[in-house]
Amino acid sequence: MQLTERVKNCNGCEACVVGCKYVCVKMEADANGIKYPVVNEDGCSKCNSCLLYCPQFNPVSLPEFEQYYEYQDEYGQRDMAAVYRAVKRKVKAGEVTPFVGTLCQIAALKSLMGDRLSDRLQIYPLHCDPEKPKRPECVSCQYYADAESM
Ligand code: SF4
Ligand code: SF4
Ligand code: SF4
Repeated sequence: MQLTERVKNCNGCEACVVGCKYVCVKMEADANGIKYPVVNEDGCSKCNSCLLYCPQFNPVSLPEFEQYYEYQDEYGQRDMAAVYRAVKRKVKAGEVTPFVGTLCQIAALKSLMGDRLSDRLQIYPLHCDPEKPKRPECVSCQYYADAESM
């Protein structure tokens, strides 16, 4: 079964791509250029790790951030699965590691790190402008209300 049939309001964070150890989840753009996860059902073992790590399916809480940073379009071009993998690797190696991301991407990283944000992470949260949702699901984002008050 496809993740988009099981996850309400997939925000495209890509945690599921990293969470699948069988490498059978990849992101594909729809007709509007918005990326969603697609499962290779032939390779899928039905282990449900992708759902376990999905912060929309299995929510994580985030700390309150004192400062937010302006969203730049270039951030939307990133391969987030590769970013999460690199950040996890560096943190595990003991490096102080910066991470720039929207709140849903921070939630994805936290989920992939075992629902824990390491002290070695330097987090730069990006402000999501309610007037410019990045994808249709942003309007029902669990973090949207917080963003509106900024
Ligand atoms: S159920 Fe398991 S094997 Fe299938 S896509 Fe999810 S993580 Fe990958
Ligand atoms: S982990 Fe992120 S991209 Fe994957 S199904 Fe959940 S919300 Fe969508
Ligand atoms: S509003 Fe921001 S945090 Fe919420 S889903 Fe959209 S990009 Fe992610």
